[in-house]
Amino acid sequence: MDLSGFFAPWLVFGLVLLLHLLLPGRWVEGYVTDPATGKPLRYRLNGLIVMLSTVGLWALAGWCEWLPWDFAWTHRWAGLAGACVAGLLFTFAIVLPAASTGASMVSDLFFGRLDNPRTLSARLDIKMFLYLAGATLLELNLLAFAAHHVTTFPDAVSPGVLLHVGLFSWFVLDYLVFERVHLYTYDLFAERVGFKLGWGCLTFYPYFYAVGLWTTADRPDPASSTPWLVMSAIVFFSGWSLARGANLQKFHFKRDPSHRFLGLFAPQTVADGRKRLLCSGFWGISRHVNYLGEILMATGLALSLGWPMSLGPWLYPLYYVLLLVPRERDDHRRCAKKYGSLWDEYCRRVPRRIVPFVY
Ligand code: NDP
Repeated sequence: MDLSGFFAPWLVFGLVLLLHLLLPGRWVEGYVTDPATGKPLRYRLNGLIVMLSTVGLWALAGWCEWLPWDFAWTHRWAGLAGACVAGLLFTFAIVLPAASTGASMVSDLFFGRLDNPRTLSARLDIKMFLYLAGATLLELNLLAFAAHHVTTFPDAVSPGVLLHVGLFSWFVLDYLVFERVHLYTYDLFAERVGFKLGWGCLTFYPYFYAVGLWTTADRPDPASSTPWLVMSAIVFFSGWSLARGANLQKFHFKRDPSHRFLGLFAPQTVADGRKRLLCSGFWGISRHVNYLGEILMATGLALSLGWPMSLGPWLYPLYYVLLLVPRERDDHRRCAKKYGSLWDEYCRRVPRRIVPFVY
């Protein structure tokens, strides 16, 4: 039994927890309101510094030869098993002591019972910690998988592997730079904490998101052309612009409905005197163009590896399609209920769900 590999993710989660609690953080107001007070919940955020510190410690351990650079690659199956057990134990620990929602036990275990569990006087918000732990372990896995490729083929390193890790690190860092914007997303205001979120963040996120490298890091350089690599990066950054642009525009709109996006564009809205919805900019070209952005980013990441005929790298964008298409439908139902005729009016003004002019 590969115990060091099995417990490595536990060590990372413990380290992230410790750093998150000890390193300085900023308190910000979130979007979710506390049912007891009616006031927005406050969050203590320091994800970027926690992640950079953890990666710094990993680099130091590699530099000093305390830990092989590709430890997480060599022990990836044991690591996946360890993360999986951690995700399951977490699920039982967070769900079972809480009061039932009235749904079946299976449903409660899967979706969770608690909306926004937090402890230590809200210094530790479980949802935000789960995302941070998953993002950090994902980054460490990506770096270790790429390190495996570089040490296996030192004289013929695939530029696609380096590009992939660079773009993925951008994706992870971008999330942490804009950690506050995440407080305004579906997971925070519409989901509870159970297997889906807990196991999802502790196991699925750090391992499945690395599936492209997992399936190609031990292959030689596929000799992708420079235009291919540039095209992959363009697809990725087009997606990033849509996703980040839409999320930021909505974030500012929710905080100040008169806010001019990028200081230039006054928001156009559909409103009924009490509620309002954005229908300009990113939110005027389709109702969830941010989801298209996520799918494009994942496509750029798959392409960058240079194995377009292999299934492995495509599993990641495929997963996004399977996640986000039903999620748009769920959100549509939620918004139709919440906004009523205003939502119908928005759908008339912006008829496409995700892909402008197409779907
Ligand atoms: P959205 O950011 O699209 O949020 C949907 C909510 O926004 C709605 O429920 C509604 O909430 C509000 N809303 C919808 N339309 C409008 C409008 N026109 N004007 C104003 N408010 C509107 O979706 P998510 O929260 O699902 O996603 C957030 C980001 O996270 C996306 O970029 C998504 O792609 C990304 N994501 C990333 C994943 C990953 O693994 N990397 C996984 C899933 C999502 P309200 O009731 O508050 O008005």
